[in-house]
Amino acid sequence: MTVLAVAEHRRGELRDVSLELLTAGRELAAAVGAELHVGVVSGAVDEFADDLNREGVDAVHTVAHGEEFNHDVTVQALAAMADELDPQYLLLPHTVNGLDSAPALASRLGLPLVTDAIDLAVEDDLVVTREMYGSKVETTIAVEGDRAAVTVRPAEWPQAEGVGDAAVESFDVAIDESAVGSTVTGFEEVAGGDVDISEADVLVSVGRGIEEEDNLDIVFDLAEALDATVSASRPVVDSGWLPKNRQVGQSGKVVTPDVYIAIGISGAVQHVAGMKGAETIVAVNKDPNAPIFDVADYGIVDDLFDVVPALTEEFGG
Ligand SMILES: Cc1cc2nc3c(=O)[nH]c(=O)nc-3n(C[C@H](O)[C@H](O)[C@H](O)COP(=O)(O)OP(=O)(O)OC[C@H]3O[C@@H](n4cnc5c(N)ncnc54)[C@H](O)[C@@H]3O)c2cc1C
Repeated sequence: MTVLAVAEHRRGELRDVSLELLTAGRELAAAVGAELHVGVVSGAVDEFADDLNREGVDAVHTVAHGEEFNHDVTVQALAAMADELDPQYLLLPHTVNGLDSAPALASRLGLPLVTDAIDLAVEDDLVVTREMYGSKVETTIAVEGDRAAVTVRPAEWPQAEGVGDAAVESFDVAIDESAVGSTVTGFEEVAGGDVDISEADVLVSVGRGIEEEDNLDIVFDLAEALDATVSASRPVVDSGWLPKNRQVGQSGKVVTPDVYIAIGISGAVQHVAGMKGAETIVAVNKDPNAPIFDVADYGIVDDLFDVVPALTEEFGG
């Protein structure tokens, strides 16, 4: 038996969620006594395969075809891979690309699909935990039958570590070009797409406590001193002070930096859903009861207009 995890990459880099998927896949494979196989399509597949060769991975299957994600190519390649490997469970990332290909694949393979998993367990059936109502409620879904496709939410599992001894195999699939209806001409971030906050190591994130757009300067100064990237809560984006691609949270991006500094952010569930996977969380808020302190590793209870310039001086000097 096999669990097949599908890795994701963008602009030549393997995305963190791919390594998280390996952890989820490894747990699932152990629970059902299956092997863990990984599929990666397009881009620098040999390089990606090296990185995906982590402890607990039994095989990595590569399909070299084009550089970036192409729906038609990916679905054809993965469907052929699944036909050959006959996986019991197929895991994909709950990302733009994963959401693009998972329904088509599940439909083609005749598998039930459960999206946005935050936990997986095997009892009599596969039991998938999801969140509902803006992360206020957790629900479990028992999948009837012994096969399923699942998309896995980023930042819910730790990244797989350790070097494995997986077999790396080039998967032989003839892509039917006549069925490839789209051409990838390049990759562009949405407006203001100079940064990808989901890949940043250090994020300085700003919330409504900053009060007005002109005050953002102090946040950018701190980010520069820390060699960090600036992200934001939704009100800052809704006010048009920063572009949407900088928004962290349920309706923004999920981020997993080493350090996340939340400045003037209250810590609403919809915001925390996007940043709770950060390794170290620092919060600056003048309200000691702000919920952000429930998830913070370090907290500074004070006025951000005093704290932020002081931090900039400390780190920039
Ligand atoms: C369906 C849905 C999806 C959503 N998606 C998202 C999302 O993706 N991302 C997101 O962020 N939100 C999202 N929200 C909104 C979310 O519910 C909150 O309203 C939002 O996160 C609040 O942003 P904030 O913390 O910046 O502002 P506030 O909640 O207003 O908090 C401001 C904080 O700043 C502090 N503060 C004020 N002045 C100072 C000062 N001088 N010094 C220090 N601290 C100060 C205050 O004490 C307060 O804690 C969503 C809501 C819904 C309903």
